Amino acid sequence: MEKQLSRRSFLKSGLAAACAVSASSLPRPAAARNETSQLATLIDIRKCIGCEACVEACRESNYDKFPKPEKPFPKMYPDRVPVMDWSDKQDVRDRLTPYNWLYIQYAEAEHKGETFYLTIPRRCMHCVNPPCVKLCPWGAARRLENGISRIDSDLCLGGSKCKTVCPWKIPERQTGVGLYLDILPAFAGNGVMYKCDRCYNLVAKGELPACIEACPEDVQKIGPRDEIIREAKKIAQEIDGYIYGETENGGTNTIYISPVPFEKLNQSIEKGPGKPHLAPAEDSMEDGNNLAAAMLIAPVAGIAAAAGKFYKMTQSENQKGGDRE
Ligand code: SF4
Ligand code: SF4
Ligand code: SF4
Repeated sequence: MEKQLSRRSFLKSGLAAACAVSASSLPRPAAARNETSQLATLIDIRKCIGCEACVEACRESNYDKFPKPEKPFPKMYPDRVPVMDWSDKQDVRDRLTPYNWLYIQYAEAEHKGETFYLTIPRRCMHCVNPPCVKLCPWGAARRLENGISRIDSDLCLGGSKCKTVCPWKIPERQTGVGLYLDILPAFAGNGVMYKCDRCYNLVAKGELPACIEACPEDVQKIGPRDEIIREAKKIAQEIDGYIYGETENGGTNTIYISPVPFEKLNQSIEKGPGKPHLAPAEDSMEDGNNLAAAMLIAPVAGIAAAAGKFYKMTQSENQKGGDRE
């Protein structure tokens, strides 16, 4: 019933239409912080049973977006960008990969004399002011008006800037796929970066992201960010709980609620490559250097994105011409 309500209110909100996919990679801090047009998700980890139905649904729903690399991979000069190949390890489910945009973390923690065993769905946080978007030199990462950030696999060169600047190191690279193969196979970034795009294509049609739809325990809800924050605070008050995502990295569109402090969860979870932390994260775009870099990059990124699109378009026209001959 709760899921029906959350689905109905999601559709009724009219924000599905706002999902409209107007994007910008320009630094616009004021607009970026408009909380009424942004959709956030509330993840109540008390309810999660770790069944991985969400993980499976994500994989199925997004299969067509996953990389289909060409082998052998071109040799890079200099050898500065390592090959990352997940194509033979597509079954890996215990971390983020280009083929696994959501996974479940396990935590065991003592709190107020009780032992908690918690399972935590992890994926991109969809930051309100995402450094991955603002600092992508090629304009390949974009933030939609509804708060979704996504990487355009047609434009990404795989240079990993988005990963470097992400406080949780979320995006993952696959070699042997994307624009670099056509334009600079030996010198460019060596692939394409992949991460959760919060099912932007489903959301644009007014549908729920696949992981939310599939969850048997209604762990997640989606709605306007201000409403989600209000609800998170209400629950936190009721259960004497804790919130993660309201202020982390200046605020994210993923809000976790937990009966245990996140510092304790962070101590317990396995962290490392493809396994993001739950520690405090300062607002990386408040950093003067990052803001200045974003201002400098914005016009270049716009031109690069336009050039990339033009190149792709001409390639596809040539292909059609070739097919007709
Ligand atoms: S489907 Fe729901 S209950 Fe199952 S692991 Fe995912 S969030 Fe947890
Ligand atoms: S969590 Fe990382 S990848 Fe996701 S929007 Fe924020 S900076 Fe970008
Ligand atoms: S929102 Fe969509 S892409 Fe993101 S984890 Fe859920 S199913 Fe996967």
